[in-house]
Amino acid sequence: MPLDDLGRVERRITVIGAGLAGALFATLLARRGWEVEVFEKRGDPRLRGYEGGRSINLALAERGRHALRLAGADEAVMTQAVMMRGRMVHFSDGRTSLQRYGRDDSEVIWSVHRGELNIVLLDIAERAGVRFHFNRGLESVDFDARIARYLDERDGSRHQAAFEALVGADGAGSTLRQAMAAETALGERSEFLDHSYKELEIPPAADGGFRIEPNALHIWPRGRYMCIALPNDERTFTVTLFLPNNDLPNNDLPNDDLPDGDGHRGGGPSFASVRSGADARALFERDFPDALPLMPALEEDFQNNPTGVLGTLYLDCWQLDDRAVLLGDAAHAMVPFHGQGMNCAFEDCVALAEHLDATADRAAAFAAFEAERLPNSRAIQAMALENYLEMRDRVDDDDYLLQRALEQKLAERHPDRFMPRYSMVSFHRLPYAMAFERGRLQRELLVELTRGHDSLDSLDWETVDARVLACLAPLPND
Ligand SMILES: Cc1cc2nc3c(=O)[nH]c(=O)nc-3n(C[C@H](O)[C@H](O)[C@H](O)COP(=O)(O)OP(=O)(O)OC[C@H]3O[C@@H](n4cnc5c(N)ncnc54)[C@H](O)[C@@H]3O)c2cc1C
Repeated sequence: MPLDDLGRVERRITVIGAGLAGALFATLLARRGWEVEVFEKRGDPRLRGYEGGRSINLALAERGRHALRLAGADEAVMTQAVMMRGRMVHFSDGRTSLQRYGRDDSEVIWSVHRGELNIVLLDIAERAGVRFHFNRGLESVDFDARIARYLDERDGSRHQAAFEALVGADGAGSTLRQAMAAETALGERSEFLDHSYKELEIPPAADGGFRIEPNALHIWPRGRYMCIALPNDERTFTVTLFLPNNDLPNNDLPNDDLPDGDGHRGGGPSFASVRSGADARALFERDFPDALPLMPALEEDFQNNPTGVLGTLYLDCWQLDDRAVLLGDAAHAMVPFHGQGMNCAFEDCVALAEHLDATADRAAAFAAFEAERLPNSRAIQAMALENYLEMRDRVDDDDYLLQRALEQKLAERHPDRFMPRYSMVSFHRLPYAMAFERGRLQRELLVELTRGHDSLDSLDWETVDARVLACLAPLPND
């Protein structure tokens, strides 16, 4: 391990990717006195405008905010964030209902603009001493010589730079991951959902204000498909339409399939049948009629915006001895239905910075990081998949609403033992794996206790309390 002039271990690292995780991780290490260089494929968004493409805004929750606080970025980010108190459910008959995420305004999530967030993080990283190299896309790595090669796509020029160790924050399509896989088996597999998404927009009202309630994440659940909308600080909403890729025949519905939003079973729309702007208008006229007048450019947006695929990336190994490690989407991309991909990536950044700082043995730090985070990433990946069914299909279901009402009551009666899974994931920092397991136990309990009831009034609270005490140990502090 190289030493500096005073005989101390050199604390130097190279990060691939200056996206959300790359910029944050670089800051955390630079603030701990590390020498950090970051290589990014794209140009500097502060000079040329953000080129990020998809997913214009993101839900930021407590795990992400905790990491931002450690990086000294929370205040700057929060000046542009819009509070979301809960899900505003838009039923098929035009009714709306706000389902709060937490107890009160201390338990909310925040909508942040991806491009603005990235810019704040780059500025803070640079102030912390991080050196950025933009227009340097990693192409290949010679791990033995510890040399990385980069391409500048603007003029096709090639560059190389030596490294001590590489941290792959280069997203779901990670080139570093490919290079590592040529050296060691990573056990990589991807599972794509048979649903995709399209981004659309609700512009500001004529008076410059929001067209619908700004402090909510809007959902139009319709059984096998749904629309959601998140507010932006410039008074717009980013709308995302999620549809199956293909029509399903009536007699070939998957096991999880339930009646659609109109209460009838059917093949329903898909990206195979909704192809043009006119098709999209017809779909909105039928299934999202209250959203249609809010979206004057629906046809153009549908036609011009790309259709995004949704998948989960699983790896069994995230590191190559002391030479490389992966984090964020490069290690564990997930479907976006829990709004946790970035939050989880930020939590990775904190964990890796702590492990690296705790020991001079980099290989041990990488291994400890993987051991801590891999099981947790698997848990949030599973919860994100489960949440899709909940959002599109259960938020307007009577059983679900009764279970949720009981969940809230139990959280009040037993705050040290019963915490809704959504709260564990979004408002706390209990490990995801613990939230997943406790969530499973709690769900079983809710199903058991509400069976045969259609209101909380008929419950025997003595029995209910006894079951909670018997089934759930007190929660640890996070
Ligand atoms: C539709 C959608 C909605 C989402 N909503 C949410 C949400 O509400 N909340 C949430 O927490 N998460 C959400 N996510 C997930 C979130 O976007 C990701 O988890 C997050 O962006 C991961 O950050 P990252 O830095 O690991 O990767 P990325 O953000 O993908 O950044 C990777 C960076 O690496 C650069 N790069 C790529 N290849 C190379 C290369 N070869 N060399 C150098 N640089 C390279 C890229 O240009 C980019 O800057 C959503 C995702 C989608 C698709």
